[in-house]
Amino acid sequence: MKPRRHISHVSATRAKQMRTYRRDVRKFLRSNERCFACLEYVEEDSRQNHHFYGRVKSLLSWNPGWRMVCRKCHYLIHHNPGWARDHNFICPRGMWNDLKRAQAHHASTLKQYDGDGDHY
Ligand SMILES: [Zn+2]
Repeated sequence: MKPRRHISHVSATRAKQMRTYRRDVRKFLRSNERCFACLEYVEEDSRQNHHFYGRVKSLLSWNPGWRMVCRKCHYLIHHNPGWARDHNFICPRGMWNDLKRAQAHHASTLKQYDGDGDHY
């Protein structure tokens, strides 16, 4: 077998984090069949991970901020942020890409709804 030459653009740690992230996302998408936005059943290969609170730094792999959405809704959400916010498809203003505020908001929604539904 020919040895594979590998030019590393990311550190080994980062590469490992990304592998874990992709594996966790696959698992997440497999276990969620209805789009968070349109509530329709979504074929497995059309399922996408929408980052409700943004995806910078640790928010990327922060699982409570993940929402499964279909391709179409994901496109609409990111092309119409005002509309998306009006429908609670993205986090309230002032929390985007802010892990601390996202965590506080997530904790308050859990209290408010007391685990009776999966749709916030
Ligand atoms: Zn949808």
